[in-house]
Amino acid sequence: MGQADGLLHLTHQPGGPGMHDPLVDRTRPVDDPLSDFFWTSGADGRLRFLRCDKCGYFSHPPTARCPRCLAGGMTPAPVAGTGTIYTFTVNYQPWVVGQQPYVIAVIGLDEQPDLRITSNVVGCDVDDVAIGDRVMVTFLHRNERWYPLFERLERSGR
Ligand SMILES: [Zn+2]
Repeated sequence: MGQADGLLHLTHQPGGPGMHDPLVDRTRPVDDPLSDFFWTSGADGRLRFLRCDKCGYFSHPPTARCPRCLAGGMTPAPVAGTGTIYTFTVNYQPWVVGQQPYVIAVIGLDEQPDLRITSNVVGCDVDDVAIGDRVMVTFLHRNERWYPLFERLERSGR
């Protein structure tokens, strides 16, 4: 990845056929008018969350009303997709034969301190992940949905 032009570049096609998925099977999210946008947002490579039309607060998981100002207008809005690992764990238990350890992390998005998403950190050794690591979203296309996953951008300065 390079940042010479101020933009972040992934070294592979996000969610492409060569992408390693740490989970053997991903459950297809149920159809839900409130959250369908979230699971299809990655079709254009952008991560989106519901944002309050009145005060601009992001809400995740999706809510019909703004949890901050209680207004009713919430509209999907794109975010940069960059964030920081707030906390994480490594799953070493193989749930199916041959499954490799994988990272389950809570990511804090840059747009708002309490805008957090639980996801997987992929593309690196699970023993090399740390709280504070910078990450960027990528998408895994399965089941006609785009699952947001995260890749590490840089070390946390350890
Ligand atoms: Zn609001």
